[in-house]
Amino acid sequence: MDLELLERTLSDAGEPAFRARQVWAWTARGAAGYEAMTDLPAALRSRLADEVPYSALTLVDEAHARDGTVKSLFQTDDGRAVEAVLMRYRDGRRSLCLSSQSGCPLTCSFCATGAMKFGRNLTTSEILDQALHFRRIEDVDHAVFMGMGEPMMNLDNVLAACRRLPDIGITHRRTAISTVGWIPGIDRLAQTDMPIRLALSLHAADSALRSQLMPVNERYPLADVLDACVRFHEAKRRLVFVEYVMLAGVNDRYEQAVALAELLDPAVFKVNLIPYNPTGSYDGSGSDAIAAFRAVLEEHGLRATVRLTRGRDIAAACGQLAAARA
Ligand code: SAH
Repeated sequence: MDLELLERTLSDAGEPAFRARQVWAWTARGAAGYEAMTDLPAALRSRLADEVPYSALTLVDEAHARDGTVKSLFQTDDGRAVEAVLMRYRDGRRSLCLSSQSGCPLTCSFCATGAMKFGRNLTTSEILDQALHFRRIEDVDHAVFMGMGEPMMNLDNVLAACRRLPDIGITHRRTAISTVGWIPGIDRLAQTDMPIRLALSLHAADSALRSQLMPVNERYPLADVLDACVRFHEAKRRLVFVEYVMLAGVNDRYEQAVALAELLDPAVFKVNLIPYNPTGSYDGSGSDAIAAFRAVLEEHGLRATVRLTRGRDIAAACGQLAAARA
C-alpha cells in the first residue's frame, strides 16, 4: 500500500487526519482489503478501493515446501519479478525473507539472483507489501532482508519499510539487514535510531578468494568492511552476524577456518555457516565438513551456528530466488 497516496486521497476526500492511521492499523493487522474495515464509511471504502491499490504487488505464483516454507512470486506494476519467503519454524517463529530489489546488480558467483538481469530498486510500498501479504496469511514476527537484491543499495526505501514493520508484528530487534559489505550503508545503519541487526555476507577470510566469489570486494575490500562492522558494533552494541556459505574445496578447508577465526573478533561477530544450495557453479560442503569447520571456529572462541536450510525443494532457499519464470 502506498501510504503517501493513501494520505493524499484521504485529505482530497476531506477526511479527518486519523483516517490514514485507521486504515493502516487495519492493514497492518492483516485485513483482507478495504471492505473489511468496518468502521470506515462504506462510500469511503469503495473510493479507496478505486483509487489506492491495496497492494503494489500482484501475486503471480506461490509454492509450498514440505517444511512449511511458502515462497511467493509477485509482479510490480511495471512487470518486475519480486520474490519473498515465509519460513515457519517448529518453535513457532514465523520469519520473512524480503527482497529489496528486483534482481541484483552485484554478481556473486554462487548466487542465483546475481545471474538474473537486474531490474530496479523496489519502492517502500513494494517492500512493505511483501510483508503484508504474509501477514494476511498469519502472524509474523521476524524479518530478514536476504531475498533478492542488495538492501544497502536501496537503503532509504528499506529503512522506510522497516519503520512500519513493528506495526505488522516485527520489531526492529527481530529485523536483520544483510549486506555484501556496502560500507556507506553499514555506516548509515549504525546511525539510525532503529536497533536493526546487521548481517554480513563474508564467505571468505582471504581477500583474493573473496574477490573471486564476490566482485564487490574490489570496491569495498574485506578489511575496510570489517572495520565498518566494528564501528557498527561500537555504535549499536549488537553482534554482527557473518554469513559464510560452505563451498566444497573452495572455502571450507581447515586453514581457512583458522584464518576466519583469526580475522573475526568474537566480541563483535558471530558466524552462521550456510549449507550451499545448488545453483550450478559449485559443490556444497557436506555436513561433516561443515561440522568440522564449525568446530575449529568454536575452538578459537568464535561462536558459530549452522543455518537450517528451508524450502530447498521449491527453490526458495538462499540464492535460489531467481524467478526464472517471470
Ligand atoms: N545482497 C545481500 C542480501 C541477500 S542475502 C547479501 O548478499 O547479503 C542472501 C544470502 O544468501 C547471502 O548471505 C548470500 O551470500 C547467500 N547465498 C547466496 N547464494 C546462495 C546459495 N546458492 N546457497 C546458500 N546461500 C546463498
